Amino acid sequence: MRYRSTRGTAPNLGFDDVLLTGLARDGGLYLPESWPRFSAETLRSLRGKPYAELAAAVMQPFVAGSVIEQDFPQIVAESYGVFDHSAVTPLKQLDADLWLLELFHGPTLAFKDVALQLLGRLFDAVLARRRRRLTIVGATSGDTGSAALEACRDRGHLDIFVLFPKGRTSEVQRRQMTTIAARNTHAIAIDGSFDDCQDLVKALFADEAFRDEFGLSAVNSINWARIMAQIVYYFAAALALGAPDRRVCFSVPTGNFGNVYAAYAARQMGLPIERLFVASNRNDILARFFEEGEMRIGSVEPSLSPSMDIQVSSNFERLLFDLTGGNGAEVAQLMTAFRSDGCYRLTPQRMAQVSEIFRGFRLDDPGTVAEIRETYAATGEILDPHSAVGLGTARALADPGVATISLACAHSAKFPDAVEQSTGVRPPLPERLSDLYDRPERVIELPNDLNALRAHVRAHAKGLSVV
Ligand SMILES: *Cc1c(COP(=O)(O)O)cnc(C)c1O
Repeated sequence: MRYRSTRGTAPNLGFDDVLLTGLARDGGLYLPESWPRFSAETLRSLRGKPYAELAAAVMQPFVAGSVIEQDFPQIVAESYGVFDHSAVTPLKQLDADLWLLELFHGPTLAFKDVALQLLGRLFDAVLARRRRRLTIVGATSGDTGSAALEACRDRGHLDIFVLFPKGRTSEVQRRQMTTIAARNTHAIAIDGSFDDCQDLVKALFADEAFRDEFGLSAVNSINWARIMAQIVYYFAAALALGAPDRRVCFSVPTGNFGNVYAAYAARQMGLPIERLFVASNRNDILARFFEEGEMRIGSVEPSLSPSMDIQVSSNFERLLFDLTGGNGAEVAQLMTAFRSDGCYRLTPQRMAQVSEIFRGFRLDDPGTVAEIRETYAATGEILDPHSAVGLGTARALADPGVATISLACAHSAKFPDAVEQSTGVRPPLPERLSDLYDRPERVIELPNDLNALRAHVRAHAKGLSVV
């Protein structure tokens, strides 16, 4: 499989380079040159397969031609072997036509593990074949950092440095980053805000000599391989409920539009998805877009679901590329307009295309609290705030009689305060993290200073060569 950039001018690449590169050289995101299609007959033959086997089958066309193509099923099996539920992403029925898809059975209790556990292993395998090493650097406001550190721990061809704002993550989030006992993982508490952390990372990548010397790379949400891994659980859930002989809707709590774009990709690949509900919190740029046809940026407000406190959904560019029929020049123009004016509009015809598939909805903080409380009272199920935004959206938009699957993106124990406020119950950490508060922490504190960061990476990264 070859991949092309959404902005049309970067060179087309194979899977391995797309994986290691992330962002395209023209500022665009990579997409496959064409969507593999699964016929109804093939879909039926995939029903009932174990998750890892299904995952290897669904993703196989995307890794065709990779140096790790032969090893891929084994890499996939190892990635999902670390999940603590045998179904990996189990479905739980809440009502006659309503299901939760639990995506939080991985090492850090959030859905990002589904993609990052695979990504860490794929990076390592491709680098081993190329006899190279890389240095991953990223900034986190909480969740992605721990999932990335866990995914890269003990991988021989990677060092990873994750910056987080000191004192501004929850204690669970901090401990998940600082208690990993591996020599190649580095959690760095920056004396500053999340924006300061992001600016430091950007500045480090902008230093070309340093970037080349240490082979700086990222595992952020625009990496194609993360989308690829997330496509799988849409297949798993829909097949379990009877697809392709039954149509389903998904409700997806959304920030960067990565997770819901993966659902759209599954639909392009032949999975019969009737509608996609795009669930937002008070940061509702997407909900407004689906209502009004205009993408207009606002300011980011903190909410009970912090991983969705985003105003610019970077993966939306991938949908734009599809909507324009693969016109990179037009996408580049829209993105330039968005950057300079803070808004752009789609034509009525394009909006009609979008509205056939997507519906937007927002749930504010009081609505989120009410959803957690009411679901607990009615079913005994304890939702985290992100999952509650998804489920509230599912209830508001569901068509009677159509199976609706709402994504549960994090374990309730990651956001105990919001859950306790809503239900009176403080959710305990699951078994695999029950000793989190007893584990020793390993963290370095740095000032908000590029030279200090550069010196720290230089002192601890092992560089490019395999010894
Ligand atoms: C990252 C995250 C989201 C948002 O996912 P996107 O792919 O950015 O849309 C929602 N919920 C949780 C718990 C997350 O960690």
